[in-house]
Amino acid sequence: MAESTSWVSRSAASSGQGGIGSGRQGAPVPYREGPFAYEPAVLCWCQMKSARWISWSDDNPGRRYYRCQRARSAADCRFYEWIDAEDPKFLKTLLLDLRNAVSGLKKENSELKMAAASADGCNWEEIVQMKQQIDVFHEEKIEMTEALNEKDRKIEEKDATLQLVVSKMNSERTSTAGTCRLQES
Ligand SMILES: [Zn+2]
Repeated sequence: MAESTSWVSRSAASSGQGGIGSGRQGAPVPYREGPFAYEPAVLCWCQMKSARWISWSDDNPGRRYYRCQRARSAADCRFYEWIDAEDPKFLKTLLLDLRNAVSGLKKENSELKMAAASADGCNWEEIVQMKQQIDVFHEEKIEMTEALNEKDRKIEEKDATLQLVVSKMNSERTSTAGTCRLQES
């Protein structure tokens, strides 16, 4: 049967709706695309571009969904929406088997490293724990970088709009000035 661990792609909805669990088991494979690398933007209730994640829960392995980019913060508007239809039972089982196989191999690898500890007197347990911590930090860094990039894009958009307004105002001023001069003469 399924393990008791909660599986979820990084941004977890703690609401427990739709089979999206909580916890930080992480995806078995690295993401091919960043959570904001999609178009057109799907807005959450905060009117911000939603992050696109992949669920690795028992109920919905490999199924993509949109989620508020403020998820896991107090400002989370709790928006989520499935992108893909549910997979046939066979595919779900296959994906869960693959997920568990990857996780099993990772665990086994860690244990082997720890077993080798006596060889060189290193505290492998600590090293493995640190490595896991680094992995989590790395994932969080990707999330934050993506969010920052998204903000940069918004600022650039606003800059462009602002420049448009300024140049429009300037041209209006010039044409008004022209009219004045015409009236004077
Ligand atoms: Zn939101």
